[in-house]
Amino acid sequence: MKKTGIQIEPADRLKKLPPYLFAEIDRMKRELVAQGKDVIDLGVGDPDLPTPSFIIEALYEAAKNPANHRYALDQGMPELRRTIAAWYRERFQVTLDPEREVLPLIGSKEGIGHIPLALINPGDLVLVPDPGYPVYKSATWFAGGEVHLLPLLEENNYLVDFDSIDRAAIERAKLLFLNYPNNPTAACASKDFFASAIACAREYGFIICHDAAYTEIAFDGFKPMSFLQMDGAREVGIEFHSLSKTFNMTGWRIGFACGNAKILELLSKVKANLDSGIFQAIQWAGIEALSHAEEEARKNSQIYERRRNFLVDGLNSLGWRVTKPKATFYVWVSVPPGSTSQEFAARLLKEANLVVTPGNGFGPNGEGYFRMSLTLPEERIQEAIRRIKKLHSH
Ligand SMILES: *Cc1c(COP(=O)(O)O)cnc(C)c1O
Repeated sequence: MKKTGIQIEPADRLKKLPPYLFAEIDRMKRELVAQGKDVIDLGVGDPDLPTPSFIIEALYEAAKNPANHRYALDQGMPELRRTIAAWYRERFQVTLDPEREVLPLIGSKEGIGHIPLALINPGDLVLVPDPGYPVYKSATWFAGGEVHLLPLLEENNYLVDFDSIDRAAIERAKLLFLNYPNNPTAACASKDFFASAIACAREYGFIICHDAAYTEIAFDGFKPMSFLQMDGAREVGIEFHSLSKTFNMTGWRIGFACGNAKILELLSKVKANLDSGIFQAIQWAGIEALSHAEEEARKNSQIYERRRNFLVDGLNSLGWRVTKPKATFYVWVSVPPGSTSQEFAARLLKEANLVVTPGNGFGPNGEGYFRMSLTLPEERIQEAIRRIKKLHSH
């Protein structure tokens, strides 16, 4: 049939995306700011601190060199891949082949968003943690895959319980997303947990994509592990890393995937058709950053650790029962009885001018919780506590 006029209709894959749950909170926040209210935003997962100046200097120097102005190699500069492999060996005692087992990304979100296009056919099943980073779901849908949610429950320390996964689902599964240290729950995984994940992947024949964006933000001397430290991990999966959170570089867009060479080759094929690599000056800045990773990660973690102590000790002094996260810059808090996540977040905003992220925005099992970020200065965190205290006395 001949079409008449222009019909601008979203594709089915866009129609499939869930409604944006924070629209109402965002609207209220904008209104309060417009009224001149001092809104404290504990909602964003984006570091408030600037990128260290030595990294900016490296960008500046590299940006001046015309050799860096041309299309970059899709698979990243060899120098960057070698630096990533060197960092990995130093940090995790894992040896990677920089040519085949390391793939730079335009931020880890880019790789997470594209990996289902490399591995998933329409109708294939992907196992996704709930609550979780929303991109695992949307990326699966964009590739035509189906999402099967795996509840992360407080009683299991927010680890996936492999024994409780529906049998039909686990048998059909092609891919499993994991993320530890976890956003939004801040949970950390042990060796035993990763061992069960790998055993399960082998038994049922699915691939594991581990999102390790927060391994370098950790407290009390704790060092989160890499999934690839486990025997057999490289046979079943890959791990995503990001420079965003470690070096306060969220706007720069640089991360990487590493692990199984075959999976990375497929991801690289997708990327070759969609992007033309990371701006080389940013790759040089990334090399500089990774070359000072230990020191920078330590400095950053010390700052978040103090903030975490202020926030968690403050909330607990008001009679809340909040556990101190060992890693990430998030605190995952139970909503007081009698309200939903959305209701409580709306109340904090209206009555205390505090923005938090309602847990249900991360999936149905986030209901009953909200997430607070440590991405603001101590004075602001203390002010947030004072406001919550006032709320209590009403
Ligand atoms: C921030 C974040 C990312 C994305 O990081 P980029 O490298 O900036 O794309 C990925 N996964 C999780 C869980 C995150 O919180």
